[in-house]
Amino acid sequence: MISTPARVRFAPSPTGFFHIGGARTALFNWLYARHTGGQFILRIEDTDRKRFHPDALQDHLAGLRWLGLDWDEGPEVGGDYGPYFQSQRLSLYQEWADWLVEQGAAYRCYCTAAELSEMREQQRAGKQKVGYDRRCRWLSPAERAAREAEGRSWVIRLAVPLDGEVTFHDVIRGDITYANAELQDAVLLKSDGWPTYHLANVIDDHFMKITHIMRGDEWLSSVPLHWHLYRAFDWEPPVWAHLPVILNPSGKGKVSKRAIRTPSGATIPVFVHEYQQMGYLAEAVVNFLSGIGWALDGETEIYDRKTAIAAFDIHHIQASPAAFPAEKLEWMNGMYIRQMADEALLQALLPFLSQQLGIDAGTLAADKRLHLLIPAIRERMKTLKDAGPLIDFIWADDVPIPTATDLIPRKTTCEQTCVILQAIIERLQGLQEWDEAGIETALRALVAELGVKAGQLFNPIRVAVTGRRVTPPLFVTLAAVGRTPTIHRLQRALQVLGDCGEHADH
Ligand code: GLU
Repeated sequence: MISTPARVRFAPSPTGFFHIGGARTALFNWLYARHTGGQFILRIEDTDRKRFHPDALQDHLAGLRWLGLDWDEGPEVGGDYGPYFQSQRLSLYQEWADWLVEQGAAYRCYCTAAELSEMREQQRAGKQKVGYDRRCRWLSPAERAAREAEGRSWVIRLAVPLDGEVTFHDVIRGDITYANAELQDAVLLKSDGWPTYHLANVIDDHFMKITHIMRGDEWLSSVPLHWHLYRAFDWEPPVWAHLPVILNPSGKGKVSKRAIRTPSGATIPVFVHEYQQMGYLAEAVVNFLSGIGWALDGETEIYDRKTAIAAFDIHHIQASPAAFPAEKLEWMNGMYIRQMADEALLQALLPFLSQQLGIDAGTLAADKRLHLLIPAIRERMKTLKDAGPLIDFIWADDVPIPTATDLIPRKTTCEQTCVILQAIIERLQGLQEWDEAGIETALRALVAELGVKAGQLFNPIRVAVTGRRVTPPLFVTLAAVGRTPTIHRLQRALQVLGDCGEHADH
């Protein structure tokens, strides 16, 4: 199907950090823009001054950049339909709100906060539905003039039809019908001259020439009101596509603003920057998010963004709620780490290692030992944070001195272990080149010569040299640790074995 270039937007409110659910919304819009050769617009809906969070904007911009969701118009890049901050478009909203009043589609409401709360009290007491009773909608011109003369402040409310229905089409949900009687005469412009979400959103989508509105499902209930606004303005509404709700991994309950709950009761963070800090790769997160409510072909799980762009179709987004498949993300991230070139992985690891090891990133980048180890640990990593604990002993001044119990392999005596360790020390001291292949050849030959099992020889070395039982593959580990520390730690192990070591000497 050939699609015409779409103009789509991501319209976050800077009231909090960039949420992973918001990232899914941004991604779907971005994919659709790129698929159709259209534009992805970033618009900042900063009209809620009370909930404004000073770090939210930068957090969104940084998160979008990290994910590689570049915007064609918006903050820092500009564009022909700006400004892209709603706080800079107030006069536009005021003008159109006044126009609606002139047309009789909206009206000034002079009710004070006290009057409104009294009205609600009475509604509650009378067991009536609570909501604005439209008293200012029916004011006579004389009553209006009196209130104006009193110098009362006012808001502008939309005069929605009192009966009948509104039916609109959503690409994902199909036709949806609401009874007008259910709707409120919503406030469009507040008494301080600032617009509400409804007014600013509709005006901006129109003037920014948005063709498709793709957003979270929680906005679906705003559409009837927006539909009446488009009608009142006599503007053609864009195509609506409300994305499926994201549920907790258990399938129970919507993912909240604060945390994702796993079936075991643990929680997973929700902010995009936290995924970055946890060592996830942007490519893996993009791949992962694209699968929440959409699927490439129902089979392929790992695909790059080019493939997603080529295949992305707004008509194939599912309507039913989608659970956040938390365990898939780790697996996917591991797959992406395995696919990375050594140099790219090294670069990605540097900030994490630098922090974990307390070593400057530049120093680490030049460290040959790190270059040696990367291919060896790649398979064992799920996130970029996993490398540090696997290899930190390389940079440790010293490693814990092992106990005899740690050193002596199963079905081996202390004496045998001493003999093996001494043979290892001699063999390694005599090595010409200290490299992985040389170490491997020498040690495997020794296994054969001594007639022992590989584990009987390798395990004491691992424990003696690294202070732990689980490490990257042994030979490359020794190559990275270096000859002097290796021999020193093996000799130290021999001392630990003490008496039986003396005994073996005789
Ligand atoms: N500012 C709204 C939000 O924070 C945008 C909703 C919409 O896309 O219309 O999600």
